[in-house]
Amino acid sequence: MASWKSALARTRDKIKGSVGRAFKRGGPLDEVTLEELEETLLQADVPVRLVGELIRTLEKERKGRAETRQAALRTMLLETLGNGGPFQWRHDEGPLSILIVGVNGSGKTTTAAKLAHVAKRAGLRPLLGAGDTFRAAGSDQLKIWADRVGCDVVVGKTGADAAAVAYDAMDAAVARDADVLIFDTAGRMHTREPLMKELEKVRRSMSKRLEGAPHQTWIVLDATIGQNALNQARQFHEASPISGVVVAKLDGSAKAGFLFGVARDLGVPVLFAGLGEQEDDLVPFDAPSFVDALLGIEEAVGSPEA
Ligand code: GDP
Repeated sequence: MASWKSALARTRDKIKGSVGRAFKRGGPLDEVTLEELEETLLQADVPVRLVGELIRTLEKERKGRAETRQAALRTMLLETLGNGGPFQWRHDEGPLSILIVGVNGSGKTTTAAKLAHVAKRAGLRPLLGAGDTFRAAGSDQLKIWADRVGCDVVVGKTGADAAAVAYDAMDAAVARDADVLIFDTAGRMHTREPLMKELEKVRRSMSKRLEGAPHQTWIVLDATIGQNALNQARQFHEASPISGVVVAKLDGSAKAGFLFGVARDLGVPVLFAGLGEQEDDLVPFDAPSFVDALLGIEEAVGSPEA
């Protein structure tokens, strides 16, 4: 299992020089160091407004102790991320159903399978649904993953109506008494109206089989594209509401600072983070571990517990 520290190494590499200097003991914080810090935080895709607030706070604390400055920065970053607590998988009436959405290549299929693995480890019976009926490869990939994590999967034929597959998957989840259905969908851009309509059809179809379904709609964001992923999520959310964010490929990203923007602008919780390619590498999003790994405060290890 990957650690937060190793997953955030690329972003940290970018900021560690200036963060180190800003929190060096002895002497007041000088203008050059502050400017350098501002620049590197922006390069790591920390939102502009937040960077402004952080720098102003540090300016006020310029002459204070380095520890006080570091604690102030840490508190502001943690407050920005908020604390939604771990995701509650348990659901009273029938299987909990989660729709996985996002653009192609963001990490949806891999994430759907990893979520099934997390659910299993939490003692639940997950079922996967392959709603990417456009590409045979999409379903094949999910089947291979389902085998690997030891989870059943409902697959539609290539070219089939995704809404029909969604109904079948929901039906199978109820019939087999699954605790959770994780339904992977085809990659779509929020700007492609027919595909967004299809998503609404998928939702309606699930709710026909089980009232209230899908209970969750999670967007998978590719962390390597930083701020652009936030823009995608914002526009997607306007077109079709999402209830949670899963951030994939944090380990390959040098722009992890965009997550502060997700928390602040979107008003949707970041629930899980992909810290690597293995099934164990999807962990509940943990704000203190994220911030501490970013600031280099202590060794932070991801926890597999849901
Ligand atoms: P989809 O098109 O959205 O379904 O994306 P896939 O699930 O096929 O993932 C695209 C690529 O990203 C694959 O090569 C995955 O192995 C890779 N990937 C997904 N999540 C992670 C992650 O957390 N870390 C790393 N390093 N790679 C990931």
